[in-house]
Amino acid sequence: MRVLKFGGSSLKTAPSMLDVGNIIAADRERKVVVVSAVSGVTESLLQFVAQPRKEEEVRAFIKKLRDMHVQLMEEAIKDEDILNDGVERIERKLVRLERMLYGISYLEEVTPKTKDFVQCYGERLSVILVAAMLKDMGVKAVPCDADELGIMTDGVFGSATADLDATRWSLVPKIQEMFYNGQTPIVTGFFGVGPDGAVTVFGRNGSDYSAAAIANALDAEVLEIWKDVDGFMSVDPKIVPQAVPIRLLSYDEAAELAYFGAKILHPMTVEPARAKNIAIRVKNVFNPDAEGTLIQQKSDENLECIKSISCMRNLAIVKVFGEGAGYRTGVMSVISQKLSDSDVNIYSAVTSQTCIALLIDRKDLSLAKKILSDIREGFISKIETNDDLALICIVGEGLGFSKGIASRVFNAVAKEGASIGLISAGASMVAYHFTVDKKDLDKVTRAVHEEFFGC
Ligand code: ASP
Ligand code: MG
Repeated sequence: MRVLKFGGSSLKTAPSMLDVGNIIAADRERKVVVVSAVSGVTESLLQFVAQPRKEEEVRAFIKKLRDMHVQLMEEAIKDEDILNDGVERIERKLVRLERMLYGISYLEEVTPKTKDFVQCYGERLSVILVAAMLKDMGVKAVPCDADELGIMTDGVFGSATADLDATRWSLVPKIQEMFYNGQTPIVTGFFGVGPDGAVTVFGRNGSDYSAAAIANALDAEVLEIWKDVDGFMSVDPKIVPQAVPIRLLSYDEAAELAYFGAKILHPMTVEPARAKNIAIRVKNVFNPDAEGTLIQQKSDENLECIKSISCMRNLAIVKVFGEGAGYRTGVMSVISQKLSDSDVNIYSAVTSQTCIALLIDRKDLSLAKKILSDIREGFISKIETNDDLALICIVGEGLGFSKGIASRVFNAVAKEGASIGLISAGASMVAYHFTVDKKDLDKVTRAVHEEFFGC
């Protein structure tokens, strides 16, 4: 059996929804379908609760959500009864959201718990759309909400992790019953339910990870992630238009690329699949005959070469100076504990005797600076920050096998006259990364791509 996941950009218009429907209906093999919210809906839910709202605004917002989903159904569904049933389900689903939004507007307070409750409604609505459209195509599709189905999490609001064992126990019997009845479950991506019963989301773009958790629970043969592009590419085509598609990646390569900026997969997607040796196939809804990218245990080709170059523009460096920063025990642990207490993620860290350099999200920079300046332990003499940089990550199993790749990368950088800030290599055998000035990102990326791909 297979798990298929479709992103919100493939549900944006009725014709693209129908493309999704045709892919699902095309083969009769048992499958679970996971969907994201219709493109833009999660964002609008988050924006709505980001500021105080009046009652009329709540009413208008709910109506807008209803109308948008109903319009998509009207355009995609022919059978009147199926359409009416879908509209009724959408309206019923919106009742709880509307009540919650009134509650939030009276209290003028959004907690992490209510924020997660609200932001997962895009998925609760999109599964109704997709299931109704499939019914209209003759597929016995059933919309399922992840909390009712039992996708279990650790309960961390905003960035939960799936509890794969608990998920298996609760999910498998329910899915098997649906399969037994010839039904195809259409499951909400993005969220699950914590140990105390509260809805928790997996972080933005988390539906890929939901699909991987379901594939893990069901021992699926394949996890298909359907996007609006042909899969992983050798580099961002916006920087290098001659970028080539990548046919095969190892789990490690895909995980590093996802972590360091390739927006193809949610970075946590690989682990649940790897744990059960489930192949991941990334495919394009709008070009279903293209091969896409296959991700599996081993990528056996091209060990002489790198696979891909990914870039991130949204990072910043914080340098913490202090005598013996590298030598004294516990410095790193104090710093990382304080930052993690405030949800500041450290992408990468490099230490020397006098300095610890941390790569963090640019949006966290002023918070991180404040937290670190408040540390009273006495070893910090100075803090420096830089947000005028970009990160380049080079990925390929070949990095661990063949010699001379690093020198080719850095020669290409040097020829462009660019200077390198922080370098980190060796943590993963399949990736290393370095920073350059933001203004040099495009030309350096082009030069490195040219060196390895000849274009
Ligand atoms: N709808 C959620 C988001 O926009 C989850 C997803 O798209 O995977 O982040
Ligand atoms: Mg999305």
